[in-house]
Amino acid sequence: MAAQRDYYQLLGVAETATTDEIKKAFRRLAKQHHPDRNPNNPQAAERFKEINEAHDVLSDTEKRKKYDQLRRYGAFAGPGGFGSGGGGSTARRGRGAPPDSGDFDISDLGGLGDIFSSIFGRRGAGGAAGAAGREAELEETETEVTIPFRVAALGGTVPITLVMPEVCPTCSGTGAAKGATVNTCPECKGRGTVSFGQGGFAVNRPCPVCRGKGTVPSQRCPTCQGSGEVRVEKRINVEIPVGVEDGARLRLKNQGPKGRGDLIVQIHVAPDRFFRREGLDLIGVIPINLAQALLGSRIKVKTLDDKRVVLRIPPGTQHGQKFRIPGHGIEKNGRRGDMYVETHVTLPEKLSSEEQEAVKSFAEKAGLKY
Ligand SMILES: [Zn+2]
Ligand SMILES: [Zn+2]
Repeated sequence: MAAQRDYYQLLGVAETATTDEIKKAFRRLAKQHHPDRNPNNPQAAERFKEINEAHDVLSDTEKRKKYDQLRRYGAFAGPGGFGSGGGGSTARRGRGAPPDSGDFDISDLGGLGDIFSSIFGRRGAGGAAGAAGREAELEETETEVTIPFRVAALGGTVPITLVMPEVCPTCSGTGAAKGATVNTCPECKGRGTVSFGQGGFAVNRPCPVCRGKGTVPSQRCPTCQGSGEVRVEKRINVEIPVGVEDGARLRLKNQGPKGRGDLIVQIHVAPDRFFRREGLDLIGVIPINLAQALLGSRIKVKTLDDKRVVLRIPPGTQHGQKFRIPGHGIEKNGRRGDMYVETHVTLPEKLSSEEQEAVKSFAEKAGLKY
């Protein structure tokens, strides 16, 4: 029994990684953590073991498929869940998913029923976080996406791609192969739930073998291996409201798995090269040279929506001084912020002897000691 980490995370690969990518990642990490290269380092040894374990499962198509299935049930640490398919987004499970990993014996990837049993056992030991069960999980799925600063400020549409479970088209979700007979589930005896002890009392959960249906087919559907669902890439256009804040969560109604639950999209706003935000105000830093600072200047400034504004800076402008350009901030709910330009004075790094003389004579005239 080893503390269970997410295999994809362990190897640092996407869950859509090819066998080749997995192999490469494994070789690189195995080299790095090999006991020969890290003598007397138990942490490296442990890491090495974990990496091997991860590779062992993910490089085997059959084992990987089962692992993916389990992972979708939140059995492992890390942002498992419904996984990412690109667009800079990763999905994780909604409420009802236990955040801890706990212990779980992966050694038996042969019998799905056994694995589910051990997971549920583990969950039980971990607390009641998962008690809401699968039904509740379907109500809410969470994902996150990083959007450009300008899109956050001005609003727009951002496409995200998610890998989500959908109803299996072959069996329409029954999990049974064509012509298979349907039998009472041997695990739950048709009840659809199983109970196990937790801290002295019994807890009921949807049966892991029949997934709460109470019946199992004599032959599993070849497309979904009996799960009744397949994973498909789903592209969703997320409408970004104007002025959305970093960390905001948008709720997309009925965009969850199988179109049933809501999809929560957490927004991360990427920093901009020029602007930063303070509420509805935008602050941009503009470098000015020594002469501009001392003598004043007219400088062209680009606003967030790419308009050019001429800013007059007076003689004696200081480093870090802020100039307000009214009305060029973010507009939200009828309110409009301002834009501020912060001047940063840049000094020449090297002076020729002639320039040095000029500065010295200036310093003497201005009474500046040096
Ligand atoms: Zn199927
Ligand atoms: Zn059952």
